[in-house]
Amino acid sequence: MTWTDQARNGRLLIVDDAMENIQILNHVLGGEHEVLFAMNGEKALELAHQHQPDLILLDAVMPGMDGYEVCAALRASSDVRDIPIIFVTALTTPEDETRALEAGAVDFITKPFNVAVVRARVRTHLTLKRQSDAMREMSLTDALTGVANRRSFNEAIQNEWRRCARSGTPLSVIMIDIDHFKLYNDAYGHQAGDACLKQVASTMLQCGGRSPDLLARYGGEEFVILLPQVDAPGAATVAERILASVRDLAIPHRMSSAGDTVTVSLGVATLMPDQGGAPETLVRCADDALYRAKNDGRNRFCVEGCDQV
Ligand code: GH3
Ligand code: MG
Ligand code: MG
Repeated sequence: MTWTDQARNGRLLIVDDAMENIQILNHVLGGEHEVLFAMNGEKALELAHQHQPDLILLDAVMPGMDGYEVCAALRASSDVRDIPIIFVTALTTPEDETRALEAGAVDFITKPFNVAVVRARVRTHLTLKRQSDAMREMSLTDALTGVANRRSFNEAIQNEWRRCARSGTPLSVIMIDIDHFKLYNDAYGHQAGDACLKQVASTMLQCGGRSPDLLARYGGEEFVILLPQVDAPGAATVAERILASVRDLAIPHRMSSAGDTVTVSLGVATLMPDQGGAPETLVRCADDALYRAKNDGRNRFCVEGCDQV
């Protein structure tokens, strides 16, 4: 893919109170990119949240909410924080430019603008945005199974802990470990082991159901599921479903003491984040429950009643 191809098909949001400016920019950029436009700050914020553009071209001076205020509002909101913003403005002093960059803009284009320069800068920033999206995606994904990785889980549990504390709702964690996986590798080879990990991850993904639930590979043959606003009986139901779905895969495992096929052991824990404790406590409780499930014979789940603090 060429540099130019990469920058194609990005979605732009053009914000300007003068229709004439929007028309010019649309003429310059519309052939190459999908273009949305807004004629005031409020509408710009609404469209940004709704359509998640890849780049925003923002006029600095507008009646009502000006470009700097729009910029600040975008930066304050996590779902639109990473959208790059280019100021396009008739203000030309170094102070204006500095103010825009300090407000969080990635670039500054002065009016009247040169068409070729606008096009080139838009392509550059779209390419950079695509690269940083890909890097972020990679840094949060497990390469083998495609599910979230441990870093992603650690971020999510901190966020969900706070969210559940605010709303006075429970937070549950399930730790999952494949039974006798070392023996599986010994019997069938490491590549078959990798294929097995992928299959187990993919079937567990289908057991989640609701979108805020997160499945992550915690390490090796260990996975973890985060269940915000799910109480202990709810989490036990999910654990039961996972246990059954892995059994139903019916992957032969002739060396296992827990059955003829690949099985998992699970540890379930639930806490009320508004009553103290920390995310680490919850993970440790789930780990303790998993340990018990292993000791009790594997191919089962245990629920840990953990102390709150
Ligand atoms: P238990 O039932 O007590 O959990 O026994 P186990 O053998 O599953 O546990 P143990 O921790 O002794 O061994 C884990 C094995 O998982 C050893 C390691 O080679 C294997 N493993 C970890 N990551 C991978 C991987 O990415 N691919 C493959 N094929 N094997 C892996
Ligand atoms: Mg294991
Ligand atoms: Mg293990």
